This record gives sequence, C-alpha cells and structure tokens, in this order.
Amino acid sequence: MSQIQQQTLENHLEQLKKCTACPNMIGPVITPTPVISKVYLCGQAPGPREGSFGRPFAWTAGKTLFKWFETIGLNEEQFRAVAYIGAVCRCFPGKTKQGGDRVPSTLEVSTCASWMSREFQLMKPELIVPVGRLAIEQFLPIAPLNEIIGKKFQVEAFGQQCDVIPLPHPSGASTWFKREPGITLLAEALTLLGSHPAWAEIVNSAGS
Ligand code: SF4
Repeated sequence: MSQIQQQTLENHLEQLKKCTACPNMIGPVITPTPVISKVYLCGQAPGPREGSFGRPFAWTAGKTLFKWFETIGLNEEQFRAVAYIGAVCRCFPGKTKQGGDRVPSTLEVSTCASWMSREFQLMKPELIVPVGRLAIEQFLPIAPLNEIIGKKFQVEAFGQQCDVIPLPHPSGASTWFKREPGITLLAEALTLLGSHPAWAEIVNSAGS
C-alpha cells in the first residue's frame, strides 16, 4: 500500500461523510476504518444503531459476523484493521410502517454505488464478501441462498476481476443460517473464505 493510496482513501472517506445525495436516507453516513485491503466486505446498509457508534456492523449483526470471522483467524478488531468494510448504501434507510428496516430504493442503490466504484478503482480488491441478499445481488444473479452460500464465484465488478464468496446476513431476525441446510452451507462458506489467498494475506498482515 502506498502513502498516496492511503491518503486518497482518507480523502475519499471525508467526501463520503459529507454525502447528502439521497433525501430519504437518514444520516450520518457510516464509514469504515480507512484500510487499503484486497478483501472488500460489502454490507447492505447500516441499521439505526450504527450512527451512534460511527462504524459499520457495530450492533448485534456485527457481533455474529465477527464471531464467524474469529473461527477463520480474525477477531473484530483485527478484521476492522485489515479488511475494508463497504456497503450497498452507507446511510440508514429508516423504518417501514411495519417496523422493519426499509430496503433502499433502486435509485439509492445506484447513487451510492458511485462511492463503491471509486473504492474498487483505488483498492482493486481480489475478494468480495457480500453479506446479505441486497449486497449479494449487487455482484451475483438473484438466486436462493441455498444455491449460492458455500460457493465461490468469479465476477467482474466495477472493472475488476474478483472472487466473490457470499455470506448470509447475520441479523438476529434471520433464521436461515441457524438451521439446515444453512448451518452446513455457512460452514462451507467460512471454510472457503478462510482458505482464500486474499484472506490468508490479511490474516498474516493482522499477525505481523
Ligand atoms: S446512501 Fe450513499 S449516496 Fe445516499 S446519501 Fe448516503 S452516502 Fe450518499
């Protein structure tokens, strides 16, 4: 990683924090640790709690996600220090009348993708880890989780050739990964992730 790359990323995140492009999104814009990495984790959108912590995956879903990663060599602190955490949308979309988190609109997703595109140009990630359906659908054709979790795909994303290893959303509201075949498929996905060269590289860098 060059100092220029690092400075460019930090400038990028400063600009991102000021983004107000989507009138129906609720700030603040949530940004990650400014780390240049070959591993790009793509979340969906922050929940209502992330704003007070000022970082992605700061609440219960994050706790589950980082427990998964601990089984393949990185605890939360290490992961945040060596992997980049992006998202389909970087602001909280608000709640629906039914009380769930609103799914971002197609326009919001495409507007926010311009930030992700810049991150891909800068970092040229080798491995994308999309977490949850909305994130997975940005990189892979729509398909049931049973057919895509536990597999590795090769895609071109924002002009970069990348491997994609999707994960289910670790939300407490999701039951998919808590019962079969989700339990087995999640274990297979984590095995694939742990044995990927880009993952091995960030595990090594976390230990050095
Ligand atoms: S969701 Fe993305 S594009 Fe929309 S206001 Fe937030 S940072 Fe900007």
